[in-house]
Amino acid sequence: MGLRRSTRRQQAAEERTGTAGPAYDAAVELRGVQRAYGRGSGTVHALRGIDLTLPRGTFTAVMGPSGSGKSTFLQCAAGLDRPTAGLVRLGGTEITGMNENRLTELRRSRLGFVFQAFNLLPSLTVEQNVLLPMRLAGGRQDRERAARLLDQVGLAGKGRRRPAELSGGQQQRVAIARALVTSPDVIFADEPTGALDTTTAAEVLALLRSAVDTLGATVVMVTHDPAAAAHADQVLFLADGLIADRMPRGSAEAVAARMTALTADAARTARTYAGAAA
Ligand code: ADP
Repeated sequence: MGLRRSTRRQQAAEERTGTAGPAYDAAVELRGVQRAYGRGSGTVHALRGIDLTLPRGTFTAVMGPSGSGKSTFLQCAAGLDRPTAGLVRLGGTEITGMNENRLTELRRSRLGFVFQAFNLLPSLTVEQNVLLPMRLAGGRQDRERAARLLDQVGLAGKGRRRPAELSGGQQQRVAIARALVTSPDVIFADEPTGALDTTTAAEVLALLRSAVDTLGATVVMVTHDPAAAAHADQVLFLADGLIADRMPRGSAEAVAARMTALTADAARTARTYAGAAA
């Protein structure tokens, strides 16, 4: 089912862009992406040139010390912020230079989002929350699909509840069902387990993993938690606005060790700069 859908999506992407070929099989493509804040001597280079291709049906974790550019990366990759230089393609469509209306439409119809704080609308039922992206995109609200997704995330029969009646882990499952409802090109997750206890976090991560494995979803997740990153196919480590390292799927311990080494490097560099400036 997932495979058939992604083939259709790929064809649609080729029709939209008028371009077939292997490059358009990518769910996410960044080329030379830079993002600077401010001007003159006070300029902060949050991203210094990110090159990245993420194939469809993959799960990628993004880690890095505080201030390394993770949030900026996610915002630029998801069309929530505009790079200062470079280009971003999502599902084969270049979003750099799109006007705000088209970007909003693309985010609603072709991207899914999962946030640390769940971001469900408290006045809507669980089912209405899941269907919200369809409603906002002006499409038919497919209640059967909502029921199927709620079943897949382990919340069968809870469609009429309000978010406040559910546990944190259940609310995040609703958010994942909502993120999946439009069969998006990419799901962007920002610390999706940051507000959950370890056991519930592991369940939510297993769910994201299974969305990738069984539905062919593509997930890009920013996290500071090595145990979360260990669920991904690949871990990207950002440092000072660049991809400093990559690691194929590894244990939480291996991810933590790599992170410790990176943080020590970053601290050494900062000390060197401070020494040079003194
Ligand atoms: P991370 O998510 O890894 O902590 P960020 O992407 O938030 O990193 O930040 C990267 C760098 O960009 C930091 O030096 C941060 O202070 C700076 N930065 C982020 N957002 C802004 C902003 N709106 N204005 C100025 N500087 C910013």
